[in-house]
Amino acid sequence: MDRVKKLLRARTLLPVTSPPIDNGALVINGPLIETVGRFEDIRRSYPGLSVDDLGDVMLMPGLVNAHTHLELTELRDAIPEGLDFVSWLMELVRKKRKLSVGDLVASARRGAGQCVTGGVTAVGDIATSDEVVKAVLQGPLAGVVFREVIGDDEPPMLPSSISSAMKAGLSPHSTYTVPSASFSRIAKLADPLAIHAAESPEEVAFLKDGSGPIADKIYSMARWPLPKPSGLSPIAFLESTGILAAKPLLIHGVQVNEDDVRIIARHGLSVAHCPASNRRLGVGRFPFELYRRQGVNVALGTDSAIGTKRLDMFEEMREVKRLHGSAISCEETVRMATINGAIALGIDAGALEAGKRADITALSMDVATDDPYMTVVEEGRAEAVKIVLIGGETPGSSR
Ligand SMILES: [Zn+2]
Repeated sequence: MDRVKKLLRARTLLPVTSPPIDNGALVINGPLIETVGRFEDIRRSYPGLSVDDLGDVMLMPGLVNAHTHLELTELRDAIPEGLDFVSWLMELVRKKRKLSVGDLVASARRGAGQCVTGGVTAVGDIATSDEVVKAVLQGPLAGVVFREVIGDDEPPMLPSSISSAMKAGLSPHSTYTVPSASFSRIAKLADPLAIHAAESPEEVAFLKDGSGPIADKIYSMARWPLPKPSGLSPIAFLESTGILAAKPLLIHGVQVNEDDVRIIARHGLSVAHCPASNRRLGVGRFPFELYRRQGVNVALGTDSAIGTKRLDMFEEMREVKRLHGSAISCEETVRMATINGAIALGIDAGALEAGKRADITALSMDVATDDPYMTVVEEGRAEAVKIVLIGGETPGSSR
């Protein structure tokens, strides 16, 4: 059967990996982008194809939310503001225990819906049960759902992927909640992997000498035996376990020094930066400049909806600008939210480019500035999202 080709025309095209195009167009062939360029050129090359003129919109790659916990979406108002990192985590565990698996599945489905409404086409999601993994795999989004492994739990068997757009992987939860011997074992079981790493000063203290509230509160609540302190930074600790060779996506990466970032760069790892979450939990400032100097791929994630209330990647981009100011351009910020996220998740999307999957968002240009990147960062919001395509289709229409 011939694949259906579509020719879309828009006032502005923002391919991200190449310069913006005024009066641009692209051709979608089945789930993939076939060509991108100026409208006149494309119309000439495809004389038989009818034009779907989207009018006054900007076509850009769908946003990639590199770190979410969709199953926690309905807990967005459940945890008080102003708690320190460890108190917050313990409160989360207590609140989550009250939810059934059915509640978590429903919450993940609502979270996925919010993502699509907000122009997101792919996520790096963390799920704590097989049922949620299945729900996210069957949902509208592309990307990766990482099944979390915590303590000395036996890593679960992952369901085989049922869509080409969404993969399943494993996430050993963090440097401080998984025994060091488990990391390399988990690395052999799945690809891709994701780990919460170097998030808080409490994590640094715990790994270094076994001190602080992680030992005093989390380990005593979980009744886990205290491990021998590694004396290492979180990143050096992960390197010592051997898991970095499996190229896990590192989540947070706030509490790092130059040596840590060198380790991350040497292994060719990506880092998911979650600025709103970091601010909320007061864990420190993400050293963007260090990562840039070492050429590390930095993606962007909202983390769970708790605290930020909504899984809003436009707001997260503004958070990047608030945090890093003129040290980061609007173009770099948009790259973090698109192509860098796709690289971090190992998916062939995140840019309007021939051969990439047609994961596309159309934004209303009612409040356009001269610089399309600035328009996205400063004026982008869910209300401005006119169209979302995942694999060339409107989410929910064919899957
Ligand atoms: Zn997280």
